[in-house]
Amino acid sequence: MKTIALVAHDQKKDSLVAWAKAHEAELSPHRLFATGTTGGRLQEETGLNVTPLKSGPLGGDAQLGAMIAEEDLHALIFFIDPLSAMPHDVDVKSLIRLAILYDTLMAVNEATATGIIRSLAD
Ligand code: PGA
Repeated sequence: MKTIALVAHDQKKDSLVAWAKAHEAELSPHRLFATGTTGGRLQEETGLNVTPLKSGPLGGDAQLGAMIAEEDLHALIFFIDPLSAMPHDVDVKSLIRLAILYDTLMAVNEATATGIIRSLAD
């Protein structure tokens, strides 16, 4: 069992929920965390057991960054909106930076997310 974080910016939440539904069987054996709003949607719209953290702009990204620094997170699935400015851009950058620094599996789009979740099933 691995610990996986799921995050989606607002314009990407529908895509992440659809992706999570399509990969429910591969995701369900793992321990799942999500930022607040993403986690709420995943809990309501999928059968997955997800632990929600704070909403991203209120510190959820920072909480995930702390998990990476503590080496408690194996993979980050982060559906980033490439077309919108974010008030918490510094937190987003920090999270990505820590994932790079700690060599955490990280997907910022659907194709890579699918590759990661398949690789964890092997
Ligand atoms: P949210 O946070 O799931 O609470 O919307 C995601 C983000 O914007 O980082």
